[in-house]
Amino acid sequence: MKAEIIAVGSELLTPDNVDTNSLLLTHQLNEAGCQVHLKTVVGDDRDDIARVLREALERSELIIFSGGLGPTEDDLTRNAVAAVLHRRLAIDEGLLEIIRQRFIARGFRMAKINEKQAEVIEGAEVLDNPFGTAPAMWIEEKGRCIVLLPGPPRELQTIFEMSVLPRIRLRSGGMRLVYKSFHVTGITESELDSQIAPIYTDYPQVRTTILAGTRHIAIRLYRWATGEEEPPDIIELSDRLQAALGNSLFSTKGEFMEEVIGSQLRQHGRTLAVAESCTAGMLGMHITRVPGSSDYFKGGILCYSNEAKIELCNVPPELIQKHGAVSAEVAEALACGVRNALHSSIGLSITGIAGPGGGTAEKPVGLVYIGISDGKHTESRHRIMPGERESIRERSTYLALSWLRRFLMRDTVSNP
Ligand code: ATP
Repeated sequence: MKAEIIAVGSELLTPDNVDTNSLLLTHQLNEAGCQVHLKTVVGDDRDDIARVLREALERSELIIFSGGLGPTEDDLTRNAVAAVLHRRLAIDEGLLEIIRQRFIARGFRMAKINEKQAEVIEGAEVLDNPFGTAPAMWIEEKGRCIVLLPGPPRELQTIFEMSVLPRIRLRSGGMRLVYKSFHVTGITESELDSQIAPIYTDYPQVRTTILAGTRHIAIRLYRWATGEEEPPDIIELSDRLQAALGNSLFSTKGEFMEEVIGSQLRQHGRTLAVAESCTAGMLGMHITRVPGSSDYFKGGILCYSNEAKIELCNVPPELIQKHGAVSAEVAEALACGVRNALHSSIGLSITGIAGPGGGTAEKPVGLVYIGISDGKHTESRHRIMPGERESIRERSTYLALSWLRRFLMRDTVSNP
């Protein structure tokens, strides 16, 4: 079933509001066997809404509207849909009474303006809205289904699950979208594609996408299927990809790196402390996003100035004088220092030049050193990060997490 979503609301065309309803709907539509092939955001303008619907009727079997069902002048979805379908809008007396009672139950008198919400498009089935007064509608028109849902996410989701999904499932003949997601790090997007393209092109029924982000690269596999079982080709492709990706693959269930590290630390009974200069707390923030991270995370030292590095992480001043604060030597001293200061098994540090000022020919903006120490082994690595200040700080954080994961995977890590 080809579906499209039309989100109505002028506020969704401003920089302040995002259409999150369509994300929620897309996920559930896919699982119910509907392929969402188009999304539109349209302002509160009757002609624009009508134009979008006319086009949608040409190309989609299922058209879902979100928003514009309220009582005010700018709530125009009902009127626009009725006009395009050449159907009347009439007050449904039963519905009017239900809406009136909802107001009374909350201790209000229904305003005259709310009567508009009891207007139903001729031939539409009204879908109950337990959390609001805007009634949703299911309309059938020449083999097409048009669904009108209110904008508030809680109302939309409840009506969709209660009344729309069961109707869609009946029509889609048990089709559903099976998908798998892999997160990869330590490899570029082009290297990754040249490594895995010879594998995934063997499976034309499975759609494979590669999406590079600041944190990691996501590989997603999608395949339409019927029944509860996973199709053998997606299982086989998934196994072959996992074997080919080796240590670059860190998640097959959508976990973020900080969750994977949390499991590793917990599994080995180790604790972690961090010393952050240019990232100033970002690393600690990510590590503590994981519930239960207090089991293994001792804390962090935000050592932005040289004085803080010396006083709080015990970095010898001569080391900073000789090599500079952004150097392998200082990164390693910070990792050792924070490990001792917070009595943790492992110390992890970041020191770098986030810019825009402060760079030199020898040490350019984006140069970042990461240090790791477990008491027996202390090491550091560096990289020149691309991008602006914020992006350099974020990339440094993810790289530190990624290197910590590799460090924890090695047998050489000593016990605490
Ligand atoms: P109401 O009776 O509450 O007015 P409505 O159907 O008219 O219902 P809107 O007025 O369009 O809905 O939107 C109400 C609120 O719902 C918005 O202020 C916004 O917070 C939220 N909302 C609307 N559309 C979306 C969307 N596409 N994604 C996320 N939130 C949305």
